[in-house]
Amino acid sequence: MKLGPATIERVIDIDPFELGLSFLFPGAQLEDLHPHAALLAPDHIDFDSANLLLAIQSFVLRVGGLTILIDSCVGESKQRDRRRDWHQRIGTGYLSALAAAGVTPDDVDIVLCTHLHADHVGWNTRLENGRWIPTFPRARYMIGQAELAAWQAEELRAPGVANHGAYVDSVLPVIEAGLVETVTDGFELTRGVAVLPLPGHSPGQIGLDLNYGESRHVLFCGDAIHSPTQVFKPEWTSAFCANPQEAVASRMGLLERAAQDGSLIAPSHIRNAIGFRVERCGCDFRPAYVCEAT
Ligand SMILES: [Zn+2]
Repeated sequence: MKLGPATIERVIDIDPFELGLSFLFPGAQLEDLHPHAALLAPDHIDFDSANLLLAIQSFVLRVGGLTILIDSCVGESKQRDRRRDWHQRIGTGYLSALAAAGVTPDDVDIVLCTHLHADHVGWNTRLENGRWIPTFPRARYMIGQAELAAWQAEELRAPGVANHGAYVDSVLPVIEAGLVETVTDGFELTRGVAVLPLPGHSPGQIGLDLNYGESRHVLFCGDAIHSPTQVFKPEWTSAFCANPQEAVASRMGLLERAAQDGSLIAPSHIRNAIGFRVERCGCDFRPAYVCEAT
């Protein structure tokens, strides 16, 4: 997808990634989505199984001479005892998919971790001779300052427990390699690409606000929105949100802004699209799908 001076591609790690609607969004009712079936099925929800259909993927954003990898998915060889489909994966084809997008590990200038959950940092590292080494040796790994501080405090409290142990195998090795740079709200990666605060799903989640011309924007929003179902039901909060109230506020802020200024919202787990625009529908919102530049 080409947008002004930027290009955006998706690199898939797992698709579909299926989670029960009421598992991810406790209290959510499938019936509430029936009126919106034409927009949500078959890509985003399976009404027969009541499963949400997500993708675990990276966005490759090329702009201003930089190759930016947004989120690094689940990865390979990771010990993830509590999730069989994430546990000790091999032969996933992720790096080949990245190569097919014209990107070698050495080409990546920035790895932007929207947050430090295990499905967003896995490919930060790979296993070589029994050691976790940075997959992208030339990259600066950018993590929100508040996000890193929160999970480091959690590691001190209960080492190796949170996020399936991802801190130890996927974050600490890139810190020790001297590749991590913490960033704060508004920081510009390059002209027109700024860090967007989206706390709630995790303590210091961040996104990216890409301004690709005049007042045109793409909002890479991590897990502030997991699924287009939440455009209809912004109050649905995931079972994994650190601060549900804050998560709803971040999501509402995104939707209101996008409905007003036409921003393209690009959630990390969106399937079969880069993202969607949002329209007002009475006092609610509805997604309008786009895959190509307008
Ligand atoms: Zn996620």
